[in-house]
Amino acid sequence: MNDHRPAPDRPRTAGDASWEAEAAEVRRFWEGLGLPGLVDVHTHFMPERVLDKVWAYFDAQGDLTGGLEWPITYRRQEAERADVLRRFGVRAFTSMLYPHKPGMARWLNGWAADFAHRTPECLHTATLYPEPGVEAYVREAVEAGARVFKAHVQVGAYDPADELLRPAWGVLAEARIPVVIHCGSGPAPGKHTGPEPIARVLARHPGLRLIVAHMGMPEHEDFLSLAERYPEVRLDTTMAFTDFTEAFMPFPRGALPRLAGLGDRVLLGSDFPNIPYPYVHQLHALERLGLGAEWLRGVCHDNAAALFGV
Ligand SMILES: [Zn+2]
Repeated sequence: MNDHRPAPDRPRTAGDASWEAEAAEVRRFWEGLGLPGLVDVHTHFMPERVLDKVWAYFDAQGDLTGGLEWPITYRRQEAERADVLRRFGVRAFTSMLYPHKPGMARWLNGWAADFAHRTPECLHTATLYPEPGVEAYVREAVEAGARVFKAHVQVGAYDPADELLRPAWGVLAEARIPVVIHCGSGPAPGKHTGPEPIARVLARHPGLRLIVAHMGMPEHEDFLSLAERYPEVRLDTTMAFTDFTEAFMPFPRGALPRLAGLGDRVLLGSDFPNIPYPYVHQLHALERLGLGAEWLRGVCHDNAAALFGV
């Protein structure tokens, strides 16, 4: 498969023919499955100055990327990025954002509420950090209509089982609000990444609806085990199975039957716009696993549509 090349560098606009060609390819994929579109649980929208910093990290090929070269395919203005997803037929997406230090989450949540308000396809997203007051602002975000949370254990460099987070996880478990959590040790390990801290969180909050980002790479099998043990644990496909990722963190082939068995708890995620290949490659990477059309329909649309009621 040779569809992983970075998009051309020249600027493109929403009405540009090259967008249209790519959008047609994405639409062909879901139309072929008889779906009404896609639901993508892992897309990033955040305040411009935060996103600029994230992009600078990727450009610097630093710790966040494990030193990998990471050209960002969709480095566009915010409105244009949302429009690209619409053209792709992504019926619902998220605005994954996350703090790297205390005192930031509440402000991010305010921005995300506003973004969801002006972007009807966006599932209102919120985030959290282990700090005094976290329970109160998580509760506020839930009352304000947040439908999904994002937690980033690697960037935040915190223990998800930190005592400060305990009441916040309790609020989210009770409200049955899914939390997309980057807790695997890819692309680079953090002090608290890996399955063990998450296992401690789940032991306390077995009903917490964690969505393990990136299929938990590279600890895929440990996180599959947690999903098999806890019926509310799900996994998102973000960047998994692509040529880019398979080259350094391949999904273990022997675990494919387990992936098939968890078919109703695997959700499409892409990491748009911060991906070093065209969006459609993530879809083709799922298709070539050979788990069949029914599995793909669940993963690319139906599972998340049911979870979020969209
Ligand atoms: Zn991400």
